[in-house]
Amino acid sequence: MTTTKTALITGANKGLGREISRQLGKLGHTVWLGCRDEGRGRQAEEELRAEGIDAHFVQLDITDQQSVSAAMKHVEARTAQLDVLVNNVGIGSGLAMQPSNEDITEIQAMFDTNVFGTIRVTQAFLPLIRKAPAARVVMMSSGLGSLALTGDMKSPTWGLAAMGYSASKAALNMFTVKLAKELLAEGIKVNAACPGSVATDMGGPTAPRTVGQGAAIAVRLATLDWMGPTGGFYHDGDGPGI
Ligand code: NDP
Repeated sequence: MTTTKTALITGANKGLGREISRQLGKLGHTVWLGCRDEGRGRQAEEELRAEGIDAHFVQLDITDQQSVSAAMKHVEARTAQLDVLVNNVGIGSGLAMQPSNEDITEIQAMFDTNVFGTIRVTQAFLPLIRKAPAARVVMMSSGLGSLALTGDMKSPTWGLAAMGYSASKAALNMFTVKLAKELLAEGIKVNAACPGSVATDMGGPTAPRTVGQGAAIAVRLATLDWMGPTGGFYHDGDGPGI
């Protein structure tokens, strides 16, 4: 019997998703790289394999039900269980708009990906997740989705990202706690992570944190032992048990 754990990371061809895959792979996990573009996904697969990681590309557009169902069937045919799901995909808006004039189409696009896409992937893979003895689900969220942080009127300039992005991450946080409660008795832990401000295509080149630093919290939440928390929101090492 193998003790190798299997993980699926969405949006794994670049940025934080690729680095989370790398770090989990270095810990000995078999990593499935869920990528919507085959060329970019195969390239990431090749690069991680060159580092000795057991990496496998699977085509996955989280906004497309057919793609998600096909990815589930593909992975299910090749592994007995899914120990880790990292819902890393997220999109932002390049537009600096105020809530009073933010384009509803842009807001909808962020919800389609960040919220509905993440729910779609999680629901599809849950049967495989439930086959693992102690599965972990991680949502890549953001402090911008925190009502406590963004709503602090003593810091009016904090969290000036597009409202749709913040609202989508707040909804993702709600999905996290509701799912954590549903799965509590099954021993499946579900937590949300904020990577900080990280230099990726989304974060921009001047963001202060490296992908290595940003990925670390997601990897810790993906590898929690039985005493670790569930239903929480974590940045770096804060919070009980991690
Ligand atoms: P990037 O923009 O660098 O990477 C996003 C990844 O998601 C890419 O691989 C992209 O693929 C993929 N993706 C986008 N849409 C879809 C889709 N519909 N289906 C499948 N894959 C998709 O982002 P980051 O690495 O910076 O961010 C990762 C996560 O961390 C996000 O959820 C983000 O909100 C969160 N985060 C990031 C912060 C930062 O400072 N960077 C701060 C706080 C949170 P493709 O190459 O095909 O576009």
